[in-house]
Amino acid sequence: MTYLRMENLDLEGKRVMIREDLNVPVAGGKVTSDARIRAALPTIRLALEKGAAVLLLSHLGRPVEGEPDAQFSLQPVANRLSELLGMPVRLEPDWLDGVEVAPGQVVLCENVRFNLGEKKNDETLARRMARLCDIFVMDAFGTAHRAQASTEGIVRAARLACAGPLLSRELDALQKALNHPEPPLLAIVGGSKVSTKLTVLDTLLDKVDELIVGGGIANTFIAAAGHAVGKSLYEPDLIPEAQRLIRKAHARGGAIPIPKDVLVARSFSADEHAIVRRVDEVRDDELILDIGPLTAVQYSEMIDSAGTVIWNGPVGVFEFSHFAAGTLAVAEAIERSKAFSIAGGGDTLAAIDQFGVRDGVSYISTGGGAFLEFVEGKTLPAVAALEAVAESSGS
Ligand code: ADP
Ligand code: MG
Repeated sequence: MTYLRMENLDLEGKRVMIREDLNVPVAGGKVTSDARIRAALPTIRLALEKGAAVLLLSHLGRPVEGEPDAQFSLQPVANRLSELLGMPVRLEPDWLDGVEVAPGQVVLCENVRFNLGEKKNDETLARRMARLCDIFVMDAFGTAHRAQASTEGIVRAARLACAGPLLSRELDALQKALNHPEPPLLAIVGGSKVSTKLTVLDTLLDKVDELIVGGGIANTFIAAAGHAVGKSLYEPDLIPEAQRLIRKAHARGGAIPIPKDVLVARSFSADEHAIVRRVDEVRDDELILDIGPLTAVQYSEMIDSAGTVIWNGPVGVFEFSHFAAGTLAVAEAIERSKAFSIAGGGDTLAAIDQFGVRDGVSYISTGGGAFLEFVEGKTLPAVAALEAVAESSGS
């Protein structure tokens, strides 16, 4: 992957527009988790140190396009950013026709999703945005899998476009884990987005030495192995696909292990106590909400002996204290393990923070969907556009 890097460009006196992913949770006009804002700070500081006038772009939530809505305003982000940077950060509500910004200043442009044509990657919109800057910096890995006006179109329309340090660091780490992994490579895929993640498994099976499935995905595999899963979250339509994946793993000399034991409850509630069941003993009125203790030990051992671990998706409903043990065991095994570990996904990161194991993970990806698409081996459109820019500029 070859693209220009912001670190190597002269930004002195230039208008530099940086696309970040500042899509953070907001409640009562306040940012409730500022992890994504903090992740963007080094890029913003570096641009300022290099003498740039900084314009920031981001989306927030899912507003109706073309209808500015106070609920999705980036004002709370501007306030938090201002505190973290220790300098005023102005929010610019109407910015498409021009923004005043001097070197050493930071201006946050209002939610890109308020602009008609953002999602459709409208060329005219991309050009209007590109005209506001000398250099466009794509730094939002979490949106790099979407070809939208502020992520892909603008890269092609800008006078000069490069990758920001957050994005390039992320791409470097992912490439290291996926293309040059220290063997054995173990992937853990769990969570609740069963159908989208099953397609990831297919590609992963070509790369990994071992694969652990968890959450709703594991339930689908338990059903595919012929066991009853009661009222559990699973995808009956995808049982044939799960069976094909099991055969594919066997044909490659591997396996997708089915949990030996599980934790069940009679309803999906935080008050429910966990009942341990052998995987072939789940009753019709029960839901599988976590892996059982034997399985937790088995998975921890697999993690201990891995050279590289890729983790996306909790293996149980970790938000409920009685069903957090499986995900905690996985998180702690990753923390202990000497393997190069990489984790991504909104809820996976929430679990990592809840269990306080952030420092034990070698690389935390900021992307959810983009992380999975990269793992799947897909080209991220915004990255492809950056590569095309580098190629045509002869570097
Ligand atoms: P990520 O955001 O990390 O990609 P997902 O969004 O796919 O992960 O899934 C996370 C959710 O999956 C969590 O809220 C968790 O409670 C849920 N989950 C995990 N295991 C189960 C299960 N057995 N049944 C129902 N939900 C589950
Ligand atoms: Mg999620």
